[in-house]
Amino acid sequence: MLKDIFLGSAIALILFLGITGYEVFPFLLLGGMVLLFYYLVDKKGILRTQFLDYASKTDIDFSQIGGQETAKQELKEALDFIIYSEKAEELGIRFLKGILLTGPPGTGKTLLAKAAANYTDAVYLAASGSEFIEMYAGVGAQRVRKLFQQARDAARKQNKNRAVIFIDEIEVLGGKRGSHTSHLEYDQTLNQLLVEMDGIKSQDDMRILVIGATNRADMLDEALLRPGRFDRQVRVPLPSKEGRKEILEIHCRNKPLADDVDLEKVARDTFGFSGAHLESVVNEAAILAFRQKMRKITQAHLQEAVDKVMLGEKLDCKPTREEIRRIAIHETGHALISELAEPGSVSHLTITSRGNALGYMRQSPKDDRYLYTRKQLEQQIQVSVAGAEAEKLLLGDSSTGAGNDYQQAVQIAHQIINTGLSRLGVIDKGSISKDKVHEVLNEIITEQAQLVRAILKEYRAILVQVSEQLVTEEHVSGDDLRQFLHREAG
Ligand code: ATP
Repeated sequence: MLKDIFLGSAIALILFLGITGYEVFPFLLLGGMVLLFYYLVDKKGILRTQFLDYASKTDIDFSQIGGQETAKQELKEALDFIIYSEKAEELGIRFLKGILLTGPPGTGKTLLAKAAANYTDAVYLAASGSEFIEMYAGVGAQRVRKLFQQARDAARKQNKNRAVIFIDEIEVLGGKRGSHTSHLEYDQTLNQLLVEMDGIKSQDDMRILVIGATNRADMLDEALLRPGRFDRQVRVPLPSKEGRKEILEIHCRNKPLADDVDLEKVARDTFGFSGAHLESVVNEAAILAFRQKMRKITQAHLQEAVDKVMLGEKLDCKPTREEIRRIAIHETGHALISELAEPGSVSHLTITSRGNALGYMRQSPKDDRYLYTRKQLEQQIQVSVAGAEAEKLLLGDSSTGAGNDYQQAVQIAHQIINTGLSRLGVIDKGSISKDKVHEVLNEIITEQAQLVRAILKEYRAILVQVSEQLVTEEHVSGDDLRQFLHREAG
């Protein structure tokens, strides 16, 4: 408002001077410079030092964060040193200044920092590492200073004596010194952060806790990780199956669910998903229900939402009849081998195109798996190459659709070799020739492809029946596939 009055008066004054015969060029030049300065400061954020992303009290608490039991436990334990600081000091426990949360994107690091502020009744300020760095030396350091000052001011204003400063992507400002091309600015910024953290003293009446988050802890400068700075590192990994179910339950709390919804099954289907992915699944399911004018979210909505989050939006492409048949045979090949290797492992198969896939088969393993035997890795190779082998068996040759499958098979074969599970035994990667690796890799994949060919020949009738059903219905569930197999066995 004030800005507008000032601008209007300045324009009126220049016009008046111009009309009355004054030389207005110097005024125009001055005005232009003022506007440019304003643009740089306000719009481009240069010299900007306000970190207003804070709330007096965040409304997130630990009960709204699913899975992450260990992370929550470790974090709460560390925060208790702050809440019961006198008792901690009596035992000589070092004053806690920083906690580093490390883990993949979307696992709840920001939520944990907000919950930490809530738990300790502190004001919460958030900034991202990239907000500190500009091309001008000294700007980042000034921003760090300002951030700490602002935390103190905000806490005082709200009659609090604690503040939590959350710095996301801390690797941007806390990366190893000397590793950036414009390293003067980066180094100065990091140095300032270290100075501010060193300046936090146990006898201060204002307690500041810095929570940093990164998914590249390996990039951080040693000085940041030194005891007395980021004293605690808390890992925030991708959630387990139980964790995924809890996260789904949290995000379904305010949504109407149909009776057929089985969140346990959705959790099983979503190995590798982060909390952010799961939130998106529930949201997408609700959108699908809305589009279909339904009042409740069903299991089918959730299933489709999982596919969408995993593979992307449905494509508009229209394959020819021949291509559709080929895609159906390919996907049925994958599904048959998966189901025979591990009964109950197929969730469904479809010839609907999504993302980069013209069709796909989704697996639904009973348990999350973190270790694999050679046999299990070979079975994965079998599932990967089964699409192309099914095409060869029923259509005489395979197609470019198998490109990604072979890449996957190659990756798994590399894993077999690198982990000492191949005929080469334990190897030193540096001293083994590429040709040798290639030879063994080829052997592994060829052997598995031969086995798959033999199995598919045996199950040819089912391969034909299931792929025909897939062509007509676009979608075959894992249960339908299992019924085909049971009928054949009976
Ligand atoms: P990034 O590393 O990309 O900054 P992050 O680890 O900080 O990600 P958040 O910003 O905390 O992730 O999570 C993003 C969103 O995902 C949250 O707002 C929430 O909806 C959902 N989410 C993530 N993890 C969880 C969880 N453990 N429980 C419940 N919701 C979660």
